[in-house]
Amino acid sequence: MEKILEKPIESFKYIGPKTLRKLYRLGIETLKDLFFHFPSRYEVFLPKKIKDLKIGEKVSISGKIKSIQNIKTPKKKFTLTQAIVEDETGSIRCIWFNQPFLKRILKKGEIFSFAGKVETGFGGSFLSNPEYEKKFDEKKEKKLLHTREVVPIYPETEGISSKFLRKILYPLLIKFRYQLKEFLPKEILLKENFPEIKEALFEVHFPSSLESAKRAEKRFAFEELFLLQLLFEKEKKIFSQKKAIKILPEKEIIKKFVENLPFKLTEDQKRVIKEILRDLAKEVPMRRLLQGEVGCGKTVVASLIAALVCAKGYQVAILSPTEILAIQHFEEVRKYLSPFNFKIALLTGKKALLSQKSFLFKEKETLLSLDKMELYEKLKKGEINLLIGTHALLEKEVQFKKLALAIVDEQQRFGVFQRKRLTQTLEITPHFLSMTATPIPRTLNLVLYGNLSLSQIKTLPLGKRDVKIQILPPKKRMTAFLELKEELKKGSQGYIIYPLIEKSEKLQTKAAKKEFEKIKKIFPEFELALLHGKISSQEKESILKDFREGKIQLLVATGVVEVGIDVKNANFMIIEGAERFGLSQLYQLQGRIGRSAKEGKCILIPEKFSESVKKRLSAIKRAKNAFELAEIDLKLRGPGEFLGKRQTGLPDLSMISLRNLDLIEKAKEWAKKILKEDPSFKKYPLLWQKFEKFQKEIPLE
Ligand code: ADP
Ligand code: MG
Repeated sequence: MEKILEKPIESFKYIGPKTLRKLYRLGIETLKDLFFHFPSRYEVFLPKKIKDLKIGEKVSISGKIKSIQNIKTPKKKFTLTQAIVEDETGSIRCIWFNQPFLKRILKKGEIFSFAGKVETGFGGSFLSNPEYEKKFDEKKEKKLLHTREVVPIYPETEGISSKFLRKILYPLLIKFRYQLKEFLPKEILLKENFPEIKEALFEVHFPSSLESAKRAEKRFAFEELFLLQLLFEKEKKIFSQKKAIKILPEKEIIKKFVENLPFKLTEDQKRVIKEILRDLAKEVPMRRLLQGEVGCGKTVVASLIAALVCAKGYQVAILSPTEILAIQHFEEVRKYLSPFNFKIALLTGKKALLSQKSFLFKEKETLLSLDKMELYEKLKKGEINLLIGTHALLEKEVQFKKLALAIVDEQQRFGVFQRKRLTQTLEITPHFLSMTATPIPRTLNLVLYGNLSLSQIKTLPLGKRDVKIQILPPKKRMTAFLELKEELKKGSQGYIIYPLIEKSEKLQTKAAKKEFEKIKKIFPEFELALLHGKISSQEKESILKDFREGKIQLLVATGVVEVGIDVKNANFMIIEGAERFGLSQLYQLQGRIGRSAKEGKCILIPEKFSESVKKRLSAIKRAKNAFELAEIDLKLRGPGEFLGKRQTGLPDLSMISLRNLDLIEKAKEWAKKILKEDPSFKKYPLLWQKFEKFQKEIPLE
């Protein structure tokens, strides 16, 4: 019956081709999309009689137009349109700037409603630039759209005004909102004091009070969170019925591993290791996310866990997002596991390598280049303990004998489907550890990763990285370049980072190339390379390799420099258009430097320099760690921008839901309760339908 809601938006009145294009740009294609295009905020106007108006108040009044005229200001700079409006208690002037056409709309003798701010000037008080609309009938108070007590303001878009949206939404809502079927259990509506869906939708757009608008918004925020938590809970249940290999920590192995380390594990590392070991000791597959910024020491943790699993005779897989990272892991992990006799292999699109120690070679490590078929064969026979690689690991030929642990680095980069494959084995499900260098706030974790247990490393092994951060106005750009030049002359390396500005990738690439030509002229004596979105991964890998080997001194990059790239000699970074990056992004970017004994330097150059920009950017200097900064960032920018493009598949999580830990927890409790009482949704067919649809659309595990 919800068919009409799926009807294309152009089949409704008032929507011509031009408007249609603009609506499409907002992602509005059907009636339902329009209904669910919510206001970003509300303006509140106090309904008042004219004699009670006070300067500074935002009010709505209604009255008859006594006179109206256009007045040119003395130097003819503006036209003022002035109307005198009266009700039964008195009269007041309404003044508009440069809208002389109003004289034709606001006709003398007619009754209009106005909403605006009472100001003083031009010889008395007046309503400044008020919204206006004709009052047809005193009794049909509800019909006011633009001058009502609570007026919805929609997110700004070129060419689509809030006024226009109100005008088209109102009649459509009146007529078609009844098509929406309530799917939330009554029990929840009652207990949480949420309005029913039809009422909630109306109240979101045309609220009877601000409280009522908030209540309606909350209902919708809850709805999304609830579906998400249902999904998480359901998934948890499925996994809890699967069987994993129980891995008990063996003291000898841990000792051998730790003794081989050139450093001591930090308290944070020890804590997360314990958290992981507790999970591994169960027969239920672990599903855990390890979060901590680049360099906090996640690889060591993963290696120790892998050692325990391999020592028991089971296999481990480590999945990396790029070839460079896979190779980096392969090297690092081998170093950490050098006291053991494990066979460790690397598999990427191009390569298959096997590292093993044999008696013949006096237990020295040998590195064999394998044919891929050979590698598959060995893996299947269980002759490889640990396989590290890129998505090549997900090919169907890759079959393990007894995979007990899968570790995924930077999981956002992998599609759901791929992740699933890695965790699917027949009788046994491997334990699953995901690692990410993107620390995010607690509420966001609950929403994005509510299906995973969370371990966090908040401290860096050697204390805070040593980076001096400086914020420079754009006109001083040259001094930054010269300083960088001095550093390069001394033999160090550096980065210049540009934000993604252009909407299209083509334009973006063009802009980056143009900028790159200019930079080349400033640094003619050095080797430079440009990294941008359109570069093939092969080319990228070769550039990064040359950079690592010092053949390239200066890397110019748009967007985010490869996560995990670790070049200690590159210790100077300039970030242009710095205000266009989120604070978390900036923090991650400057995380590439300050890794050597020398202090690193990062210069932020915003495009538009102002006190507020400076203040926002300087939060980076103050934040204790990446998690704290992520909190600040989320508060400042809101979840939409904070998440950016990375999470586009997620539901349109409204601001409120991500700032409201309470609501998230409520959603979780309800999801648990409903699933427990009625696991197949027998009592809630509509909820089932909605959930099925949601499940298909959401790109989570
Ligand atoms: P991540 O994988 O989180 O980016 P790594 O595990 O690669 O971090 O560690 C980054 C660097 O810090 C490596 O060079 C590693 O040897 C070193 N490191 C890790 N843990 C410690 C520690 N507890 N003390 C000193 N150095 C450490
Ligand atoms: Mg690492």
